[in-house]
Amino acid sequence: MKAIVHAGIVLEDGILEDAAVVFDDRIRQILPDRAPDSCEIIDAGGKYLLPGLIDMHIHGYCGRETTEASVDAQRAMAAALLKDGVTGFLPTLGTAPLETIAGALEATRACMRESGGAKVHGAYVEGVFISEKKKGAHNAALLLAPDYGFLERYKDVIKVVIVAPERYPDLIDWCVERNIVSSIGHTDATYEQAMQGVRHGATQATHLFNAMRGIGHREPGAAGAALLSDGVRVELIADTVHVDRALFKLVYKVKGADGIVLITDSSIAAGLGPGIYRSNERTIYVDGTVGRLENGTISGSVSPLRRNVYNFHRYGGAPLWEAVRMASLNPARALKIDGRVGSLRPGKCADMFLCDAQLNVECTFLDGECVYRRA
Ligand SMILES: [Zn+2]
Repeated sequence: MKAIVHAGIVLEDGILEDAAVVFDDRIRQILPDRAPDSCEIIDAGGKYLLPGLIDMHIHGYCGRETTEASVDAQRAMAAALLKDGVTGFLPTLGTAPLETIAGALEATRACMRESGGAKVHGAYVEGVFISEKKKGAHNAALLLAPDYGFLERYKDVIKVVIVAPERYPDLIDWCVERNIVSSIGHTDATYEQAMQGVRHGATQATHLFNAMRGIGHREPGAAGAALLSDGVRVELIADTVHVDRALFKLVYKVKGADGIVLITDSSIAAGLGPGIYRSNERTIYVDGTVGRLENGTISGSVSPLRRNVYNFHRYGGAPLWEAVRMASLNPARALKIDGRVGSLRPGKCADMFLCDAQLNVECTFLDGECVYRRA
């Protein structure tokens, strides 16, 4: 049995200062002061211990991306994400030919059985069945009507499907029947059309404000519907570029700590620093804060999830433990895996990381093993 001592343990509902966690592959005990002498002791020296983060919406990382449609690419993403405290993710598919999507879903199916890197919890199908009017950085030539025969073959792998409710309300029904999250996004839906989608059973909104009809005072849009629907969790890219930091406060006030899922939506260029990168025959220019296509359209973020958590804490007014929950317990709940992962609680997997107050990662544990340590 191992124990981390002298840590500020970030729990679901607060921070336990100068406390200890006893664990093997699972968390066994959380103690207010010292650990049993029989444990192998790791002294945190006052650092924070956070639950491993879960990135529900991520296309690429450190030079690799989901649309490479290979096990190798998703495995490389899984390994690289550990340095940012991410211990679980959904490889997310942007627009690509259907055979590429199929290859990527096959790769995700294989990676779901692997161990060693951040856990692959399934796939997020984003850029296929979306509205051309709000395609964002997605390639319009590759947009399709839903192919239910195709989707049916991968219903064990697909965990989230993005839906433009004004176009494909039936797709929401299909998801609901298969226990798959349907997420409103890349949509030009009016408030009423989006509410219709919620009545069909949509429970999430994809990157709130980005690539959806925003709030107008005479037409509250899909953004208004997502904010006002209690049964809808909103994803937010809290890098301060995709969404202005002032809106973090508004979203926090309206949705509360349980209604927000912080994501990265990151691209192949994330984790690499400023530069020019190639993704699916397109060039992405990264200036250190965000990636853009040549025409200036924002194309995926480069800010790691831990930084988005910190941003939301700092600018949204949420206490740190709540901001952490938005990137750990909330996505776990959305995916119905919160019995195993998503928070530091006895019985759950010992997926966690030590970090400083700005959430710079010191070391990451996966199933109780130290799998990353800062050099
Ligand atoms: Zn995306």
